[in-house]
Amino acid sequence: MRIDLHTHSSVSDGTDKPSELIRKAAAVGLDIVALTDHDTFDGLDEAVAEGERIGLQVVRGMELSCSRQGESVHLLAYGADPTHDGLVSEMVRIRGGRMGRLAGVLAKLAALGVPVTEAEVLAEVGNSPSIGRPHIADAMIKAGHVRDREEAFDRFLADGGPAHVPRYSIDLERGIDLVHAAGGVAIIGHPWGRGREHVLPAPVLARLAAEHSLDGVEVEHQDHDPDARAQLHALAERFGLLATGSSDYHGTGKLDHDLGCNTTAPEIYQELVRRYGANQEPSTASDQPATKASAG
Ligand code: AMP
Ligand code: MN
Ligand code: MN
Ligand code: MN
Repeated sequence: MRIDLHTHSSVSDGTDKPSELIRKAAAVGLDIVALTDHDTFDGLDEAVAEGERIGLQVVRGMELSCSRQGESVHLLAYGADPTHDGLVSEMVRIRGGRMGRLAGVLAKLAALGVPVTEAEVLAEVGNSPSIGRPHIADAMIKAGHVRDREEAFDRFLADGGPAHVPRYSIDLERGIDLVHAAGGVAIIGHPWGRGREHVLPAPVLARLAAEHSLDGVEVEHQDHDPDARAQLHALAERFGLLATGSSDYHGTGKLDHDLGCNTTAPEIYQELVRRYGANQEPSTASDQPATKASAG
């Protein structure tokens, strides 16, 4: 049983359409895959429909842009109600902040001798409701300024980089509470990725578990080295957090993030489904625990 709980489609900053991603997941031998686009649920119906068509279990997910003390934290939400007013209005506000900073980033890039037009970026965004820095990076690649997204981030776009402009994101505690209010399960994505250990040290994880019923942390992730994985596994056990694993697949947008390169243990997945399944009406839930069990 191979389970990948964190992937992106072209509905945010991945490069495969949702249906295409689901077909690729089946082709590489995954049994269960979650689509977790940034700050939008828009790709989920297409992904679930394709999963039903080809017989692959698809989990409804989303990666919510949060922050703690001014630093970015990504919160994975599973099984949340996509019509929950409070959650949806926050997601609208976050997506507005994504678009709102575009002009500022382009002005900084121009001043740095890297001219890219808004039209060039929007051509990369396509129909995505959730514009991100990777789309700006793709326009920079097309214009011949950089080789790949990695170089665009390393030289210009990374947090604190010369062309970085902060955007609105929701306070992490509030984000966790909102995901729960929407009936979802809240798991912090790559908590210690890209040198971010100081943002979420052990006492903070303990407090989020105790005071906000944080459900878990993503442990097996490409941005975590073996030592970080070992430490996070131990902390998850100590604080009663679910430890998940995933690829954070972005299609051709991210190297070394192949579908299924990290996976989640079946018993962790079953507990996750039990938690969000308990919050859903049987008549509206397409992914109840019983369905999942029979699919597995
Ligand atoms: P944004 O959503 O605009 O905040 O941009 C963050 C996204 O950029 C992440 O979800 C990743 O997909 C991508 N990203 C972040 N850092 C890098 C990097 N160093 N190289 C390539 N992609 C990155
Ligand atoms: Mn991304
Ligand atoms: Mn992320
Ligand atoms: Mn992600």
